[in-house]
Amino acid sequence: MAVCATMMLLGVLFGLLTQASTLPVKNSTGVQEGKVRLKRKYSGELLKEFIIIHFIAHSNNRTRSLAPRGISIRDGDIAVSFVRSAINCPGNACLWSKSVDGFVYVPYIMSPIYDDMDRITIETGMQDISSGTCVKFIQRTHEANFLDIQPRYGCWSFLGQTGGSQTLSLQTPGCMWSGVAAHELMHALGFVHEQSRSDRDHYVSIVWKNIMPDHMHNFRKQVTNNLNSPYDYGSVMHYGRYAFSEDGGPTIIPKPDPYIPIGQRDGPSGLDLHKINVLYNCGT
Ligand SMILES: [Zn+2]
Repeated sequence: MAVCATMMLLGVLFGLLTQASTLPVKNSTGVQEGKVRLKRKYSGELLKEFIIIHFIAHSNNRTRSLAPRGISIRDGDIAVSFVRSAINCPGNACLWSKSVDGFVYVPYIMSPIYDDMDRITIETGMQDISSGTCVKFIQRTHEANFLDIQPRYGCWSFLGQTGGSQTLSLQTPGCMWSGVAAHELMHALGFVHEQSRSDRDHYVSIVWKNIMPDHMHNFRKQVTNNLNSPYDYGSVMHYGRYAFSEDGGPTIIPKPDPYIPIGQRDGPSGLDLHKINVLYNCGT
């Protein structure tokens, strides 16, 4: 079944790439060339998104049955303990505490199953956050609250600090991009997906008819604290244009300019870092 779906998706992807690369460019005007360039750019974006979302979607479907007892997965990759009733973090109760030296230390342990390259990838995701904020990821010694980073099925995290040991799953090799690690780490810091923001309808249209029916819930809006920050199409927390697409059509279209690139997993954007700094009062 999974193989069949994979072949179908590959077929759609190949069709789109072929279509993009065979578009007529001869005798075209500058505008048309621009469109071709855009289309090629989106094909590359699509390929990347295909790899990431395909993996997350498939492996996280399995996560439903393989997640630790008492945990369910919502919004694609946010783990929710049945003990906690809300997905959001009322009163910032799920934030990691700030040390007297002004840094926010997030202790972690990492599974010995990871090899050196995996560790470097995950640590790069950590450094991409640390280098621009007051959040520092440190190896746990004795701390009571910490991340337990493990290669479970799929890429997922709890929202904010849950208290005690909390699993953050980065499966290998499927989740081994530093941007995916940074994405899950930002969930652990308390951030939801950018397109889940309460004000998202001003900035994107959700194309409900193109979304796989089982994944509609991944596009719900949340009650969010937007930290007086602009909507960030380039956030590492933003889904891509074709996230959870049923037939290859877009599921998220930016507005008013539909060609603004969305959804990247290279690493946190400048605004992502800014928002971490605001949420954790890094400047004070
Ligand atoms: Zn996510």
